[in-house]
Amino acid sequence: DIDYVYEALLNTAIDIDSLEVHSQLDEIWIKEVIKKAGMKLKWSKLKQDKVRENKDAVRRPQADPALLTPRSPVVTIMGHVDHGKTTLLDKLRKTQVAAMEAGGITQHIGAFLVSLPSGEKITFLDTPGHAAFSAMRARGAQVTDIVVLVVAADDGVMKQTIESIQHAKDAQVPIVLAINKCDKAEADPEKVKKELLAYDVVCEDYGGDVQAVHVSALKGDNLMALAEATTALAEMLELKADPTGPVEGTVIESFTDKGRGPVTTAIIQRGTLRKGSILVAGKSWAKVRLMFDENGKIINEAYPSMPVGIIGWKDLPSAGDEILEVESEARAREVINWRKFEQEQEKNKDDLKILEEKRKEHQEAHRKTREKYGTLHWKKRSFMKYLERKEQRPLKPKEKIERDSNVLPLIIKGDVDGSVEAILNIMDTYDASHECQLDLVHYGVGDISENDVNLAETFDGVIFGFNVNVSNIIQQSAAKKGVKIKLHKIIYRLIEDLQEELSSRMPCTV
Ligand code: GDP
Repeated sequence: DIDYVYEALLNTAIDIDSLEVHSQLDEIWIKEVIKKAGMKLKWSKLKQDKVRENKDAVRRPQADPALLTPRSPVVTIMGHVDHGKTTLLDKLRKTQVAAMEAGGITQHIGAFLVSLPSGEKITFLDTPGHAAFSAMRARGAQVTDIVVLVVAADDGVMKQTIESIQHAKDAQVPIVLAINKCDKAEADPEKVKKELLAYDVVCEDYGGDVQAVHVSALKGDNLMALAEATTALAEMLELKADPTGPVEGTVIESFTDKGRGPVTTAIIQRGTLRKGSILVAGKSWAKVRLMFDENGKIINEAYPSMPVGIIGWKDLPSAGDEILEVESEARAREVINWRKFEQEQEKNKDDLKILEEKRKEHQEAHRKTREKYGTLHWKKRSFMKYLERKEQRPLKPKEKIERDSNVLPLIIKGDVDGSVEAILNIMDTYDASHECQLDLVHYGVGDISENDVNLAETFDGVIFGFNVNVSNIIQQSAAKKGVKIKLHKIIYRLIEDLQEELSSRMPCTV
């Protein structure tokens, strides 16, 4: 009854994933049943989803609207080079410092907060230009709510102005126009507005909804009007966030500080960050030791839209990495290990592609050999068959089996099922000539064990391991018994080594 078996497998899947694998026998048996039931694809997909769900950290589902509270906008300043982005950012920051107590030392942490007299706040991302913006977007991060497009009134619309508009449109982020350098005699703001019509940026004067503010970043003229236009737009966007539950955010910048180690600036997007929180980002994790704002002031809590410097990272995450809070250090380690493992898997996939090409070359070479020498022998014995044989004739450890000298007994161990399978598949295609035989005595998942060494000794075989370890004790035991253990991290190296072993042992080449 397939339904019954499938149901049973669903339950088993959970067991297997949480316990890794019960035993090779279980796994082989289950696979056998699945093959018979024709459910192989479903099974591996199910297993993968289950593993990801259990091991990786992901954003929570959308919050209940009742939990949402208003938040301030996060703004990126974009525009053509030399149109005044840096000057504008500096002036905005200084206005803020001047408004606060004198003597505050501003720190470059990738973002800063400007408070308006009305009490409203704006978070400005500190890295001007669309390079940073698109780099973040390429990593799937969307932190910006509003783009302030800076266009110099004497220069008008230029190449990077157009690119900036395109980036804002692609990200579906609305624009506030800052027509800069209005202090200059040759400034012509109206010309800027007219030029922008061609790029579908329609100012209010022309019946559109883009607010345009005439400013001079250099003199600091009209910057408050620009800030007010930004908050007015933010109000219309009804920006909201859920300040409760585990934190979600994005890394804006990260760097190593000599005294403090890895430091990141983050924009919090959900939840409230506090000292002691455990975070993961990219392939790094942190236990938050210290948090500070752009004035270097230590803060105890960071809310949605707030830029915050975070100290306590084990490694350096990258700009654009998603920050997620997890419940414990153990969980953080599990997530990071899983992400590293997944990356290795990806790397292995690339290796397999190279291998596949090599395999095709070999296959062609062997087809020719085959034509020349006739049928080839390739002996592959499964683990099950080996067990059958063992039952028929128990082997004493020291007793060596009589065998032809032109047979290479093999034991293959891999880190995961997929890698062992891949190696076996490749071996299958590397047909040996009729003079030599490969005898697969045993294969399986896991580190090299005493049992593997005993088998190798009994069969006078060689152990090949892929991405697995061998303890000192086992290594010593193997040395004593004269058993060769060969470990590899790259599949095609392992295969190459195997071929070498084969040709060194036998009077024929593969
Ligand atoms: P960015 O490349 O867009 O960051 O431009 P900068 O902020 O570096 O400015 C380029 C040049 O334009 C500098 O020499 C600034 O002093 C000058 N500048 C910036 N804003 C103004 C302004 O409002 N008026 C005038 N006259 N010059 C400005």
